[in-house]
Amino acid sequence: DIKGTVKLNNGIQMPYFGLGVFKTKDGKQVIDAIHHAIENGYRLIDTAALYGNERGVGDAVRASGAPRKDIFVTTKVWNNEQGYEPTLRAFDHSIKRLGLDYVDLFLIHWPVKGKYKETWKALERLLNEGYIRSIGVSNFLQHHLEDLMNSSSSVPAVNQIEFHPRLVQQSLLDFCAQKKIQVEAWSPLMQGGVFKIEALQQLASKYGKTVAQLVLRWNLQKGVITIPKSINQLRIKENANIFDYTITPEDMAAIDHLDKHQRVGADPDNFS
Ligand code: NAD
Repeated sequence: DIKGTVKLNNGIQMPYFGLGVFKTKDGKQVIDAIHHAIENGYRLIDTAALYGNERGVGDAVRASGAPRKDIFVTTKVWNNEQGYEPTLRAFDHSIKRLGLDYVDLFLIHWPVKGKYKETWKALERLLNEGYIRSIGVSNFLQHHLEDLMNSSSSVPAVNQIEFHPRLVQQSLLDFCAQKKIQVEAWSPLMQGGVFKIEALQQLASKYGKTVAQLVLRWNLQKGVITIPKSINQLRIKENANIFDYTITPEDMAAIDHLDKHQRVGADPDNFS
């Protein structure tokens, strides 16, 4: 498989590249997007209870004709369903909507204060019971990860965080690498913001690539899993066309230097 996989800290293989389906409508829109994605080699689909499209995601995975084991499906528990019992219930609803026998990765969507440790215990139970193949977190800063790991013997397999050339968080990446927590990027294209950065336009044209292809390739070379969102057939294809070239170390560093610690989403220390 040209896209390649990474071995998570629990031995499970996760594709490096996938499709995000935030703000993608349930039904035809999400089914068509996943259909185009799988046709173009995508094997990882990132949804969440919040996105309201788990039914369509499950329908698309089944309709793809690909063996279930070849598609990696991630979903997440939303903030208002955190805590031990509520998370067990939320997972039950998610897996029923998906109509799948198991989920490949289940994430705590945000580190809800006073709740995420209990939420994690529910994830551990669901993992042990075989309903989930890997468990992880999203939007966890180093202090959240340390707090969680201090109260648990298990380490999250993945931390899905906002990551793009304006928000690199190198020290968080280094901490995760040291703890063997795989980092995954959300909003890798800054929800469209990367296209306005002139330095990226110049670098992209040097490689004969688009800005999207440059930024997504930079993610992979940083060792970060990436899940760009698009519902446009041509862009879905374009975004996957990043496995035939390599960004030089100098250009990798130049992209790193565009960092301004600028977020498009909420701050994990201050969200509601
Ligand atoms: P993104 O950075 O992937 O940007 C998507 C937007 O960029 C699209 O709406 C489209 O308009 C544009 N685009 C995509 N490909 C393009 C191309 N080739 N050329 C021009 N424009 C293009 O934004 P995102 O959807 O926020 O993030 C990706 C995924 O990350 C989401 O779909 C979701 O699965 C996940 N996510 C997770 C969290 C979290 O809290 N864990 C938060 C946000 C997003």
